[in-house]
Amino acid sequence: MIPTDDIQRAAALRALLNRYGREYYELDAPTVPDAEYDRLMRELIALEARHPALRAPDSPTLRVGGAPLAAFAQVTHAVPMLSLNNVFSDMQVEDPSARHAELSQFDERIARELAVLPVEYAVEPKFDGLAISLLYRDGVLVQAATRGDGVTGEEVTENVRTVKRLPLRLTGDNVPALLEVRGEVLMFKADFERLNQAQDALGEKRFANPRNAAAGSLRQLDSRITAKRRLSFYAYAIARIEGAVWPETHQAEMDWLAALGLPVVEHALRPVVSGLAGLIGCYEAMLARRPSLPYDIDGVVYKVNRRDEQDRLGFVARAPRFAVAHKFPAEEALTVVEAIEEQVGRTGAITPVARLTPVFVGGVTVTNATLHNQDEVLRKDVRVGDTVIVRRAGDVIPEVVSVVLDKRPMREAAGVDLFSTSLEPVSPPYRLPSQCPVCGSHIVKQEDEAVARCSGGLFCSAQRKQALWHFASRRAMDIDGLGDKLIDQMVERGMVHTLADLYRLDAERLAGMERMGQKSADNLVAAIEASKHTSLARFIYALGIRNVGEATARDLARHIGDIGALMALADGIDDPLVRGRSLDTLMAVPDIGPVVAESILDFFAEAHNREVVDALVAVGVHWPQEAVADSGPQPLAGKTLVLTGTLPTLSRDEAKALIEAAGGKVAGSVSGKTDYVVAGEAAGSKLDKAQALGVAIVDEVGLLALLERGA
Ligand code: NAD
Repeated sequence: MIPTDDIQRAAALRALLNRYGREYYELDAPTVPDAEYDRLMRELIALEARHPALRAPDSPTLRVGGAPLAAFAQVTHAVPMLSLNNVFSDMQVEDPSARHAELSQFDERIARELAVLPVEYAVEPKFDGLAISLLYRDGVLVQAATRGDGVTGEEVTENVRTVKRLPLRLTGDNVPALLEVRGEVLMFKADFERLNQAQDALGEKRFANPRNAAAGSLRQLDSRITAKRRLSFYAYAIARIEGAVWPETHQAEMDWLAALGLPVVEHALRPVVSGLAGLIGCYEAMLARRPSLPYDIDGVVYKVNRRDEQDRLGFVARAPRFAVAHKFPAEEALTVVEAIEEQVGRTGAITPVARLTPVFVGGVTVTNATLHNQDEVLRKDVRVGDTVIVRRAGDVIPEVVSVVLDKRPMREAAGVDLFSTSLEPVSPPYRLPSQCPVCGSHIVKQEDEAVARCSGGLFCSAQRKQALWHFASRRAMDIDGLGDKLIDQMVERGMVHTLADLYRLDAERLAGMERMGQKSADNLVAAIEASKHTSLARFIYALGIRNVGEATARDLARHIGDIGALMALADGIDDPLVRGRSLDTLMAVPDIGPVVAESILDFFAEAHNREVVDALVAVGVHWPQEAVADSGPQPLAGKTLVLTGTLPTLSRDEAKALIEAAGGKVAGSVSGKTDYVVAGEAAGSKLDKAQALGVAIVDEVGLLALLERGA
C-alpha cells in the first residue's frame, strides 16, 4: 500500500515538472530557476524509487526534453538523442572528497562494472545551450534537427546554416560519406548582452539568459531572424559514421571532428584523466574557469574515454550509463523578498536593496540582493512578499533577476462589485522614498540619470568619509597628511561628524589614533590650521557639490564672488518662478548649463549643507575677497538663442561670441525654452520649428538691436 500523501505528492510533482518542462523546452521561456526544477525532479525520483508502482510510463523522470513544435517539419533521429544523468556536489561541505560523494558513487559503479581501475575519463564543459544533431553527406551539411523528445526533433536546417561558426562543408582529406554529429548551439555572453540591448531599444521583451536566447533564436520560423542573433556551436559527440573508421576514444573523436573543421572546445578544456581524483581536480579547475569563459556552462561532463568500454556500459531509458553531468552549484535560486530598503553609497547614490529570506545560491548564503535603481525595480515590478529568482554568478553582487508572478500574494480587491470578486496584489508597486533613510535629506533624481541621490552631501553620514576625503584633497583644502585610513578611523570613532569638526581636533586626541605619533599629530593639526586660509574657488570645490569640478568652482567664484550670494540663490526655490530666476543667474555664468545649475541649487537648498558652510566660516575658514569679474552689461542674461542660416555680415562664431558676451546662451536646436531664433539666408528646419512653436524670430539687424538694448 502506498501512502495517499505520496500518491498525491507524486501527482503534484508530475504536473509541476510537466508544466516547467513545457515552458523550458517548448516555449523557451522558463518561469523558475533550473535549481528549482532539479530539486522537484530529485524529489520525484526518490519517491518513485521508494514506490516503483508510482512510475507512470509518461513520468518526467523517464522522458527526454519536450514535444517538437508542430510548426516545424519533424525529423526522426536514427540514433536517439538522450539526456545525461546528473550528480551534484554538496558545496557546503569543506572537505572536497566528502563534497563529491555522489561522484564517487558514479566512479565506483563504473570501475566495478568494467572491472578496470582506475577508469580513464574524458572531461568536457557542460555547455548551457541546446542540443542539435547535424547530418553531413559527402561532407555537405544536409540536415539539422533539435532534440525534441529525443526520438523526434524539429527540422531547423535553414536556421542552422546561418550559424557562422558552423562549416557548411567539411574540410580535410578524410571526409566520410556520412557523418552525424551532436553538439550544442549556444550564445556567447557578449552576444547575449548585445541582443538584450537591441531588444530594449525595440521595446521588446528581454531574454532571461543566454540558453533561452539561443533556443528561442534557433527555433525561429524565419531564418533571417536567426541570422541576426549570432549563435555559436560546439560539437561533443558522434552518432553515426559511414565510409570512415570510427576513432577508438572520445578524445580521438573530438580531434577528428576538429580536423574536419567542426568547432570543438579548445584542448585545455577537454583533458583525459584517470579515476575519481582526476575528476575532482577537473571539476574544481573548471569551476574556477567558469566566470572567465565567454559562454555559460552549468557543470562538467565526464565520459568514459574508451569506446569499447562505453559500449559495454550501454544506456538506460533516458541517458547513457557511461557519461554523467556534474552540475555546478546553482547560480539562481528562488526566495522571498521580505522588504525593500535603500542603501546610500559614498557618493549619495541610492540603491534599492531586496532583503531576502536567506537562500543558498552560487556557493554562499545570500540575504540581500541589489535591485540597482528605481527604474529597474519598476521594470521588474519587484514587490514586498514576492517570490523572486536571485542570481549570484562568481563574485558578482547578488541580484534579483525576475519575479515569479504566479506566487505573488494576492487579496480580494475592496469594494469593486458585490457579485464578483477580483484580486489585487497585497503589496503596492515600489516607490522611491522622498527622503534619505540615513540623514533625512531630500532624494533627487535628475531626468537624464537612472540613479537617485541623497542631496544631504556633507551632512549625510553615509557620504561623510567621501566628503572628508574630497574636502581635504590637494586641489580642495589641501590638508597635508589627512589620508583615507585616518579619515576612516575618525569617522568610525565618531571624532568627526561634520567638516567643521576637523578644525576642532587637537593633537592629543589625534596622537591616540593608530599609526599616529605625537609628531605627526602636531603636523596634522598645523596642516588643518593652515588650510583655513584658502580661496573661494577652492572652498566651493571642496564642498563636493555634484557636477561642480575645479573649473566650475573657479567660474562661480569669479562671477558670483560671494558664498552668501551663492547660498541665497537657493532661497525660496520651492516657488518655480524663483527657481527659474536662480537657474538663469547661474546659467549666465560661462560654461554652466542646466544640469550643473540644478545641482548647485539642490545642494544649497538643503539646510544641512548651508549649516556646514556657516560652521566652516565660523571656525575661521576664510579667503580674500574675489574681484568679481566685470562682465559689463548683460542685456541677454538668461536668454537662449538659436542661430540658423547665413547672416549677412557676422560669421557663426562672431555671432555666438557677441551673444555670450552679452550673457546669452547659444543652443543647437529649437525647443520650448528658446527665446529667439536668429535666422539668416537659407535658414533650414530650425526656422520652421521656430515658426511652429511661436518662438520670436530676428535677423542680424534684430540681433544687433537685442545686443544693444536687451531683450
Ligand atoms: P541536461 O541539459 O542536464 O543534459 C543533457 C544535455 O546536455 C544534452 O542534451 C546536451 O545538449 C547537453 N550537453 C552540454 N554539454 C555537453 C557535453 N559536453 N556532452 C554531452 N552533452 C552535453 O538535460 P536535459 O534533459 O536537457 O535538461 C535537464 C535540465 O534542464 C535540468 O537539469 C534543468 O536544470 C533544466 N530544465 C529547467 C527547467 C526550468 O523550468 N527551469 C525545465 C526543464 C529543464
